[in-house]
Amino acid sequence: MNTEFSSKAVLEAIRSVVQSDNTSISLHEPKLAGNEWTYVKECLDTGWVSSVGKFVDRFEDDLAAYTGAKRAIAVVNGTAALHICLILSGVVPGDEVLIPALTFIATANAVSYCGAVPHFIDSEEKTLGVDPGKLAAYLEDIAEQRQDGCYNRITGRRIKTLVPMHTFGHPLDIEPLLKICADFRIELVEDAAESFGSFYKGRHTGTFGRLAALSFNGNKIMTTGGGGAILTDDEELGRLAKHLTTTAKIPHRWEFNHDMIGYNYRLPNINAALGCAQLEQLSAFLDNKRALAGRYAQAFSEVPGVRFIREPEYCRSNYWLNAIILDEDFRNMRDEILEVTNSAGIMTRPAWTLMHRLPMFTDCPHMNLTISKSLVRRLVNIPSSAGLV
Ligand SMILES: *Cc1c(COP(=O)(O)O)cnc(C)c1O
Repeated sequence: MNTEFSSKAVLEAIRSVVQSDNTSISLHEPKLAGNEWTYVKECLDTGWVSSVGKFVDRFEDDLAAYTGAKRAIAVVNGTAALHICLILSGVVPGDEVLIPALTFIATANAVSYCGAVPHFIDSEEKTLGVDPGKLAAYLEDIAEQRQDGCYNRITGRRIKTLVPMHTFGHPLDIEPLLKICADFRIELVEDAAESFGSFYKGRHTGTFGRLAALSFNGNKIMTTGGGGAILTDDEELGRLAKHLTTTAKIPHRWEFNHDMIGYNYRLPNINAALGCAQLEQLSAFLDNKRALAGRYAQAFSEVPGVRFIREPEYCRSNYWLNAIILDEDFRNMRDEILEVTNSAGIMTRPAWTLMHRLPMFTDCPHMNLTISKSLVRRLVNIPSSAGLV
């Protein structure tokens, strides 16, 4: 067997799975093969295209039924969902919110929208999500309990909420995080934007924290064009989430009264129509993605120096975005792989730039981020559309 690393071998492994006929292959495309036309046409025919309509109600009910959450509130996008989740978890200006450094910008932006400060924490290689052991040790070091919660002894700010994120759809180790949050009196909001259809020990991701955010952006496992949702088991928080995302208007036949500063974050009916049609196809998407991941795993088992990322133990992942990771010895080869594959018309992408390196967040607190740095250096996302199988 050839034990020399070569980026050509990576390209050939991807090609053997996606069977490129020389057309270019994107990283992730939506598949609109169900009742999308019918439902959207119904919106157009009836004039119910905007902020109210039966598809919004149906979409929310379907989401709650599928995930097992008591309430699902549909909103304009996943970032808005996160924003409302953070407000409802009690974050106020000046608080700190713990988030992974290895995440999409939306997680950090939502914290900033609250006037709070993101505090970046490390991830573990096993799940690509927040490392519970490292977080617990860190909090032992920096946290101090006061009357109204957990404080960062170094900055003097309150640490109100933790937002773990299920990276590329792979569930992170959520159980120990729940315990840490209970011990340290920190709220837990899940960023489940990437993990719709992923389960941890049989339970849907996004139903563990007090609140969770989903995303239905065009590149996610299913799409509403743009959209998102808030999940919660708490009836009162569910009611408040609906109220806050619909301008906090007090229901009345003609009066316009509002009792809080609300947001115009509701999902239009026409987008919810797409969501209902996509949800009908979710189990087919999940099957396709699992089959694609299986083929990648097989193809990469023969490529020295790289590992295809599989779902963590006890979890069923949606395999939203596939990724390979280079062995430490070949950590300098990432850019060559990106060059070779993208030049060949196969779109690949590195992980996000770590949040603490972005100009808006360089002054924010962070723990030692050794693993996140190593992951970013070695990780490459590869084509993952459900339509590839
Ligand atoms: C997609 C995504 C979001 C939400 O994104 P929107 O584009 O606003 O729907 C939030 N967090 C993560 C990690 C994401 O990948």
